[in-house]
Amino acid sequence: MTKEIKKENKKYYQCEICKFYYKEEKWAEKCENFCRKYNSCSLEITKHAIKA
Ligand SMILES: [Zn+2]
Repeated sequence: MTKEIKKENKKYYQCEICKFYYKEEKWAEKCENFCRKYNSCSLEITKHAIKA
């Protein structure tokens, strides 16, 4: 499951495997599914990540 992070009144979602943060839950989920399956990150997905 993705982790919900609250920071400065904003909600972020974290991929528990690669620890990237996303503004949208759907990307965090995609990332986590990809990370789990391939044991690495997809650039197509992580480009949607935000800086923690
Ligand atoms: Zn990930």
